[in-house]
Amino acid sequence: MEHNAMERIQERPSSMAANSHETQSLLNGQILQLGVDVGGTYIKFGLIDEHGNILLRDKSRTHPERGSGAIIRSIIDGVEAILARCSLRVGDLKCIGLGIPGTVDSQNGVVVYAPNLFWRDVKIVDAIRQELDVPVLIVQDTCAAAWAEYLVGAGQGLCSLASVTLGTGIGCGLVFDGKIFRGALSTAGEFGHQIVDPDGLPCNCGRRGCLEAYAGGLAILREAKKRIPEILELTHQKPDNLDVHDIYRLAQQGHVQARELTDSVVKYVGMGLVNLINLCSVELISISGGISNAPEELLLNPLIAFVRSRAYDVVAKRVRICRSDLGEDAPLIGSAMLYRCESYEDHILH
Ligand SMILES: [Zn+2]
Repeated sequence: MEHNAMERIQERPSSMAANSHETQSLLNGQILQLGVDVGGTYIKFGLIDEHGNILLRDKSRTHPERGSGAIIRSIIDGVEAILARCSLRVGDLKCIGLGIPGTVDSQNGVVVYAPNLFWRDVKIVDAIRQELDVPVLIVQDTCAAAWAEYLVGAGQGLCSLASVTLGTGIGCGLVFDGKIFRGALSTAGEFGHQIVDPDGLPCNCGRRGCLEAYAGGLAILREAKKRIPEILELTHQKPDNLDVHDIYRLAQQGHVQARELTDSVVKYVGMGLVNLINLCSVELISISGGISNAPEELLLNPLIAFVRSRAYDVVAKRVRICRSDLGEDAPLIGSAMLYRCESYEDHILH
């Protein structure tokens, strides 16, 4: 599907047609904002109300190989397209929030480093503001997910939480005392790159022994192929289609080596969570990402047991660990709602 030279894939048909009556009901005194989740594969767009409900969504494919200019063009086109679908103007929005897969300088609107997009020092906010006259806020996608969890997810009413993403890579967003915590150098929450074995396996970050090299999706697949040579026959998969959930299915069926592998994921992620909890004393850890959908008896339940038995006593008893209900939508919702974070207030017109 081509739209304004942009490959646009509508996720699901919307009941909202573009007519003035429905536009009025959409607006109807509501505060609306747009979230954009810039991923390595898709750019997702969501028109979101003040309660975090996604009213309208869209997505287009990301083409990192075409450079930052092309991706920024896709973002602007996508914003205009979703607004056109419901006869809104950019001026009707409180803000546009962008979740970025990398380190960002939120104050200056710069993406400092996003390896999956091949970006360094991209002034994305200035570029978008040249065409769209609305406040544009940026944040790392993991922080956006944590912010959504805090505002409208399992973290409502709490002060501090961590939102851990277990996927191809492993990331984490932190909310402390009701604020997104990014650290002085904006790199807080690199949970996947904590060392779990000092002389361990090489990691994608160029260092060794990181948690991600043991429990990230790529690591699980690599180990499965190494430890279970007949894995493709057992799972009836082609090499490129083998999925972490195939390994979990095997483990569920009682395959010994597959089970050893899923147990080792629990051990390493558990170690990471204990370090995080002991250091930061968070009330809640919500877990999302593709691997979080693994059967509870193989992931969530043993993880909780590991943390209860291994973390520092006071926090071990009280911390809550759950699977995120917001799932893949968390970064989209959280980036749209950045205007509610104190650190971003200067960028919003009241
Ligand atoms: Zn690493």
